[in-house]
Amino acid sequence: MRVTFLGTGDAGGVPLYGCDCAACIRARAVTDFRRRPCTALVEAGETRILIDAGLTDLAERFSPGSLSAIVLTHFHPDHVQGLFHLRWGIGERIPVYGPPDSEGCADLYKNHGLLEFRRLAKFSPIKIGDLVLTPLPLIHSKVTFGYTIEDSAGQRFAYLTDTAGLPPNTEAFLKNWQPQSLALDCTHPPGVDPPRNHNDITLALAIAESLQPATVWLNHVSHELDVWLMGNLDNLPVDVGVAHDGQAITTSKADRSI
Ligand SMILES: [Zn+2]
Ligand SMILES: [Zn+2]
Ligand SMILES: [Zn+2]
Repeated sequence: MRVTFLGTGDAGGVPLYGCDCAACIRARAVTDFRRRPCTALVEAGETRILIDAGLTDLAERFSPGSLSAIVLTHFHPDHVQGLFHLRWGIGERIPVYGPPDSEGCADLYKNHGLLEFRRLAKFSPIKIGDLVLTPLPLIHSKVTFGYTIEDSAGQRFAYLTDTAGLPPNTEAFLKNWQPQSLALDCTHPPGVDPPRNHNDITLALAIAESLQPATVWLNHVSHELDVWLMGNLDNLPVDVGVAHDGQAITTSKADRSI
């Protein structure tokens, strides 16, 4: 299984519009440090699944028929905004799986165009091509699913964003399932207040410690966390990396270079 992080930023992205912090200045100067909205491509054999659709240039990146499905974590704009353009295309319908959110986002359900929305149920696995996905409830301001993803060779990857901590039943499921690689919400640097909608680094590392996957990739990163990482990257545990836009990993061999 190959996972490519196409976007690893939070809703504002890096550089953040109007911000002159060290991380935003760096990202304006060196494009490798930019963070676009959260989107990941998971590939196994002929199967290609897009997790979330935050990127607004999906039509340019993916030719008709090249995606098996799109799987959404939730309906916040930074995770679905790419669908607003894609839906007006013509041709084969694209299945879009997501949590049972009755509102969705704006008029996506009503004017779905070539998108075919399908609701998932928590802890009920689905098979898409060569991959089996199980939706897991997360803790966020909108109904949100993380996903475990397993390929036919038994490689196990979990994708958990957006969330602040994990519900006990999700944590228990993951402890039993034992992902080899984990992409995890880590939006904020260490904070004084307990985070409500997203993990900070303290909470993310506690989840990593609890689940013990071989590799953890911090994802949904804000410019503030990037500033913090500029002085603390070397202090992260050896099995924890920070995902970057365009980075490809496999569940058996991780490439941490940017
Ligand atoms: Zn988000
Ligand atoms: Zn900034
Ligand atoms: Zn969100």
